[in-house]
Amino acid sequence: MATIPNNIQQVRARIAASCAEAQRPVESVTLLVVAKTFPARAVRQAFDAGERVFGENYVQEAIDKMEALADLREQLEWHLIGPLQGNKTRIVAEHFDWVHSVDRLKIAQRLSAQRPMQLPPLQMCLQVNISGEQSKSGLAPDEVLRVAREVVGLPRVRLRGLMAIPEPASTHEAQRRPHAALRELLQRLQREGLAVDTLSMGMTADLEAAILEGATIVRVGTAIFGAR
Ligand SMILES: *Cc1c(COP(=O)(O)O)cnc(C)c1O
Repeated sequence: MATIPNNIQQVRARIAASCAEAQRPVESVTLLVVAKTFPARAVRQAFDAGERVFGENYVQEAIDKMEALADLREQLEWHLIGPLQGNKTRIVAEHFDWVHSVDRLKIAQRLSAQRPMQLPPLQMCLQVNISGEQSKSGLAPDEVLRVAREVVGLPRVRLRGLMAIPEPASTHEAQRRPHAALRELLQRLQREGLAVDTLSMGMTADLEAAILEGATIVRVGTAIFGAR
């Protein structure tokens, strides 16, 4: 089945069309290929189709795939996008390049303390509960500046920006609102002097709205690998 390369081509075309509409260079958006629940050979197919940046939700599943794809390790970037418990921080600090789902200062401190010296700093986004859903993880918007100021002082992590999973919305306008709110929050951090540049937002259903509002990383699973 050649569906994964075809699907990637279609996602790349969606990103290009949105970048054109937003008058942004297509290189300003990174496609993070979300491989959760799909096997290492699916990741390898995406690699063969040119993809290099992969996202995983579950730590142990990710580690298993990294081992199966160890021959590609130098060429791949692995991002953790799923919830992170305190007892998993060491293995994450030792194996991932990025973590998008940091929602407590304590987790950032542990990741910094546990990041091996021979690796570059762990790239980090703070997850924001931008739609204010009770069940969702993430910092409340009004906590973000305080936590961000602490995280930038940690030696072995580098704060890059913000991540959100907005509440699903069916219209384009409704999809844009939470993405705009996350962009405004990033701009607030920038005005406060923090050197942040990353907006991790937009998935299969809403990547166009996210790109129009400034997403620099879109996280796409279903449109590439199919339904989970
Ligand atoms: C699963 C997941 C995605 C990908 O979602 P799709 O709708 O399959 O594209 C993106 N971000 C996070 C945090 C996820 O858990």
